[in-house]
Amino acid sequence: MKCPACGHAEMASKILDETLSYGGQSLTLHGMRGEFCPVCGEGIWDAESYRRYAEAQTALLRSVKGDVGGASRRIRKGLNLTQSQLAGAFGVGKAAFSRYERGETRPPAPVVKLLKLLERHPDLLKEMDSV
Ligand SMILES: [Zn+2]
Repeated sequence: MKCPACGHAEMASKILDETLSYGGQSLTLHGMRGEFCPVCGEGIWDAESYRRYAEAQTALLRSVKGDVGGASRRIRKGLNLTQSQLAGAFGVGKAAFSRYERGETRPPAPVVKLLKLLERHPDLLKEMDSV
């Protein structure tokens, strides 16, 4: 196999550890297989290793950015509200919180900030209702 980056004729099969880093966290994958160029260092994972790499990347991103949907559910339950009651108070569509909590949609930043505010000051909910 020819190197797609520099055109060197021979790529070498290797098994190695690959470490992903993001936002101060890192994750190491062991026994990753791929073809590597001895000249420029370009590498191509095999299908299984590529799948593991992509999965690890998603997991790392989620762990760094936090599970927003889970936090939304936790705060809502703390406020003792159903998804549609909370949607009513926020003035968003009835299904919005269902989508956020299932991780289908990422809640917009103002919604997340408002949720966090309500978590600390649940009494503000009464004032939102009267707005
Ligand atoms: Zn190369």
